[in-house]
Amino acid sequence: MTPQTTSQALKTVEFEKPILTDDDSAGTSCVAHAWAKVPPVLSQDERAALKDRIRRLLKARNAVLVAHYYVDADLQDLAEETGGCVSDSLEMARFGREHPATTLVVAGVRFMGETAKILSPEKTILMPDLDATCSLDLGCPADDFAAFCDAHPDRTVVVYANTSAAVKARADWMVTSSIGLKIVEHLHARGEKILWAPDKHLGGFIQKQTGADMLLWQGSCLVHDEFKGIELDLLRKEHPNAKILVHPESPANVVALADVVGSTTQLITAAQQLDAKEFIVATDNGILHKMRMAAPGKHFIEAPTAGNSATCKSCAHCPWMAMNALSNLAEVLEKGHNEIHVDPEIGRQAYTCIDRMLDFAAKQKANVRPSSDLARESQLFQGVGPA
Ligand code: SF4
Repeated sequence: MTPQTTSQALKTVEFEKPILTDDDSAGTSCVAHAWAKVPPVLSQDERAALKDRIRRLLKARNAVLVAHYYVDADLQDLAEETGGCVSDSLEMARFGREHPATTLVVAGVRFMGETAKILSPEKTILMPDLDATCSLDLGCPADDFAAFCDAHPDRTVVVYANTSAAVKARADWMVTSSIGLKIVEHLHARGEKILWAPDKHLGGFIQKQTGADMLLWQGSCLVHDEFKGIELDLLRKEHPNAKILVHPESPANVVALADVVGSTTQLITAAQQLDAKEFIVATDNGILHKMRMAAPGKHFIEAPTAGNSATCKSCAHCPWMAMNALSNLAEVLEKGHNEIHVDPEIGRQAYTCIDRMLDFAAKQKANVRPSSDLARESQLFQGVGPA
């Protein structure tokens, strides 16, 4: 990936890239390097002026802002106050498809913009920065993945949302972390063997919970991969009353310490509903903004990452999510650039696996008897560690 022309500072990002070996398994990995733009630091006055400009431009363009929980707090607030949404990738996809606006502005990373385009090909999809990517997407190139699938034609191909349109085009199902376990349970019950990509930790977690036969691609999220079990255990001892909330992209020894394992939305619901005043949170720290709003008066502590703030790779914040800023959001709305395009044939093929998931999710919702959200969600991802 080469940077588009930019005056912004760049930082190098190290991530784990799976390697296909001779036996056609993606069982090993190497360290690869990418880069991310460092977001500008703005004064209060600059932020206020940009927010006003964005509110006006959203109206003028008949556009709606769809933001992920991991992006800057200002963008999350703007999305909510202007009638857009802040959510996980499943809800972002669903919201964008159903909203009547002709332009969707997706504040997140590139695969989210592509998914929005695949689901709403008639809409204009803009993103603050087209170079905002994801280590899972980078670590699963379409050609390598196709070779992996070709080597295992007897398996149902299930891919996580964090993949390119071309990888989704090769899949039977797309899943997000909020529904992956239910879909694999369903496929396992039908006797299907699964080829899973790209996140090895999420795949391993689902494999353990369901007992399904899953062949795993060895990708990882550079943010979640950095959380450390030993340090988390020490932190837990310092805060014996805290509940531990963990995203399943984290390593197994971190998941093993969790009171609740779940998607971003499920973790926010847990923070709201669990009877605890203190939480240790193992996911991107961008989520803390929403957690504090959803559960005022509660205290949230970031789970420890490798090294300290000077040496950690991500320091619990995705460098690509951080590329979404007020300044580039205002600029794309003004100029209409940074439009997402997906090859129509690839989009058509990828649509099937995304639509299959949305349809499954809608049926699940219809089948769930009214109960607390947390009770429903705990059926999807249970607390697997000490209660
Ligand atoms: S937080 Fe991880 S999974 Fe999410 S976009 Fe960043 S690198 Fe990808």
